[in-house]
Amino acid sequence: MRSNPQTPPGVVVGRSIVRGVPVAPGGDAFSPAWTPGAAVHAGPFVSASPSNVETACEAASEAFVLLAKVDRSARARMLDLAADGIAALGDTLVKAASDETGLPLPRIAGERDRTVRQLRMFAGIVREGSWVEAVIDSADPARQPLPKPDIRRMLRPLGPVAVFGASNFPLAYSVAGGDTASALAAGCSVIVKGHSAHPVTGELVARELAEAVAKAGLPSGTFGFLHAGGQRDSAVGAELVRHPAIAAGGFTGSVAGGMALARIASERPRPIPFFAEMGSVNPVVILPAAMKSKGSDIAAKIYASFTNSAGQMCTCPGLILALSGADFEALAASLAALAKAGAAQPMLTPRVRDSWRSSIRDSIAAGAVPLAGPSNDSEPAERPVLLRVSSAGFRASARLREECFGPSTLLVECTNIDDLAACVLSVGGSLTATLWAEESDPASQLLPALERIAGRVVLNGVPTGVEVCDAMVHSGPFPACNRPESTAVGAFAIRRWCRPVAYQSLHDSLLPAELKSSNPLAIRRIVDGKWSC
Ligand code: NAP
Repeated sequence: MRSNPQTPPGVVVGRSIVRGVPVAPGGDAFSPAWTPGAAVHAGPFVSASPSNVETACEAASEAFVLLAKVDRSARARMLDLAADGIAALGDTLVKAASDETGLPLPRIAGERDRTVRQLRMFAGIVREGSWVEAVIDSADPARQPLPKPDIRRMLRPLGPVAVFGASNFPLAYSVAGGDTASALAAGCSVIVKGHSAHPVTGELVARELAEAVAKAGLPSGTFGFLHAGGQRDSAVGAELVRHPAIAAGGFTGSVAGGMALARIASERPRPIPFFAEMGSVNPVVILPAAMKSKGSDIAAKIYASFTNSAGQMCTCPGLILALSGADFEALAASLAALAKAGAAQPMLTPRVRDSWRSSIRDSIAAGAVPLAGPSNDSEPAERPVLLRVSSAGFRASARLREECFGPSTLLVECTNIDDLAACVLSVGGSLTATLWAEESDPASQLLPALERIAGRVVLNGVPTGVEVCDAMVHSGPFPACNRPESTAVGAFAIRRWCRPVAYQSLHDSLLPAELKSSNPLAIRRIVDGKWSC
């Protein structure tokens, strides 16, 4: 039975969801700032009030305590049910997300499939159980000069988690995206602050998550969803992060937004971890032999990658670095021809579009030369832009080393391999770094610089297209992420929402299931100082 039988699936009522049901009507109303596609829901949506935030946090806190007592199979079932519910929304969800973001239907359908797969992947991880990294360090009462106690360690969930999604991934980095899926898998309760740019999509998905929680028999506060917009767009998120019940935060979005919320998290009387995935320039380095043999193929691939989804992907290549010479000029000409012929695509919101245009203007003022882009105000503002600069100009300007979130890239002309490496290092932090190299190219000379600045190093490919798998790292030094030891994508993302707890001399009856002596999940054991399995 549905937890809220009045509202059928696929219908939004414009209200936050607390304890599994829509909150009472009333409060500050807002309408989506922008629907690039057909109008999907005129609104109004109601922003969560301070008392809604309070109730959601209380519910999440109560649920967290209860979740610890529930068998992990119920948590896995809830994640699978959420995946089923989201998949069952079919075209309704895909159309709503496309209408709210302007992103094409096939792109959104692919993102929906990734979101569903991700939820199922975490369900599998919860069922399998070894992610808790249980270690049993046996006692040795006969040890001299002192007996050794029995100590057992495993990862335990942190508590209620606040999640903020980004506008450019309304499904995979939003309400049921990687942060929510991994935090629920870890055994945390979750409250999502909905994104004001896609409230319909957000509410549709939130209803399915609340439904999955109810069907799996978990406490209703396990998942909450708070609309925010209009007068209360920033306030709801800030109140959430400040609330004493919240134990951690996950964020995907701009550097300004991520750092503002991370500051709130660190300035609380009791600071909490806040994981913010933010801006990234994703440099691509092309070495001479690769440039000579594959120049035009590389240009086509890079063009498709930096204009993918109107350049509004966190991994779009915003920087192309290569050595000066005839091959460099040929690459510049190929990229410029592609960009000049490229169509304008709608951008996510007027704010995102205006901020991109202003970054382009600032880049030109900082010395970048436009090779393609709108040449006057009568051309669509969203036409792809190609800029060019010397390595000296690049290294001298902080603006040129920052993300320009939109369909643009900057071509940097370098003088030699050391200059290339110095330009890469000047970037500081990025989600990805890509190298195009043939066997005869000095790839190993560049690798240390690429690895130092990026969470993922790609060879002879493009950085867009993030695989959700065990080995994926979606992170990097600041400004890509404020916590470069973590990842927002892949199985390892679950570790962000836990901390290790050691239990000393506890009887089996008091220990968590994973640490009981008979449990095969205890993956390592040390006896008399020697490792054994
Ligand atoms: P955004 O404007 O920072 O918004 C993200 C979320 O944070 C929204 O819910 C927003 O609320 C909230 N927020 C922002 N500033 C806040 C503040 N000061 N106080 C309280 N809440 C605040 O980012 P976006 O436009 O959605 O996403 C685009 C950016 O995300 C790009 O820069 C892109 O590179 C980055 N991104 C990064 C990754 C990654 O994995 N590194 C992935 C995707 C996108 P509202 O809804 O009210 O605006």
